[in-house]
Amino acid sequence: MATATTLDVGRMQVHILDDGVFVRDAGNLFGGSRKASIKGAMHPVLVEAGDDLVLIDAGFGPELPEILVGRYELRRDEHLLDHLQRMGYSAGDVTHVILSHLDADHVGWALGPPSFPSATVYVQGAALEEARRMPEKDGRQAAVPAVEKGVEDGWCELLHADGDVLQGIRVEVRAGHSAGHQIVWIGDGDDLALFTGDLAPAKIWLDPNLISGVDTDPEAARRNRIEVLTAAESRDAPVILYHEPGDCLVKVRETEKGFEAIPIGD
Ligand SMILES: [Zn+2]
Repeated sequence: MATATTLDVGRMQVHILDDGVFVRDAGNLFGGSRKASIKGAMHPVLVEAGDDLVLIDAGFGPELPEILVGRYELRRDEHLLDHLQRMGYSAGDVTHVILSHLDADHVGWALGPPSFPSATVYVQGAALEEARRMPEKDGRQAAVPAVEKGVEDGWCELLHADGDVLQGIRVEVRAGHSAGHQIVWIGDGDDLALFTGDLAPAKIWLDPNLISGVDTDPEAARRNRIEVLTAAESRDAPVILYHEPGDCLVKVRETEKGFEAIPIGD
């Protein structure tokens, strides 16, 4: 198996991990009736920040959530915790888990069941509120009981704005795909990398005009995607694409039609 892609950002090491790939019907995703399937990787990110070990998004978890069986197929030989172990860490070493939003393919190992006994899990309050209102068959709603229990037991912290989770790890609310969806800027000063979550999760989504049928506020998603990718380009920041099955670490450049990815790799 390939080793993790690693990026140095200032004093921090950023490792792009792997929780397998999923295959799902694409009809709903593009809002049309087109019969196609789409394949997406899951790339949780591990940041070594001094004494802290930060995980950003958490894959599908030990198995495909029951609510998605029949709609999604999950393929993997190794999962997130295997990759963590390969880096020399156990689940108990993780100190902070940041969840971009509450979709099942982002929260698995953090919530279902909680796998990081020493970590505080950070979620935007607006994401929880929206998830409570989602239909029961939605994977987002399935995360609600675990988040509520985490808040009650003290291992989950609800955020209500942009801010530093710790020095050099800054969350920024960029809604659209979900309410309270947060992206993460990693680094200090001019030396930054960007985790886009599902705001622009793969190369095809660098086109601001491609609107997903699963975005709860498409206009906000479009506007935020343009603003955030423009900022990434002007800061010359590497962008980590959570669902990209190909090169998941790129830089972006504005074109006539939107943005294009420029591979950087290692
Ligand atoms: Zn996703």
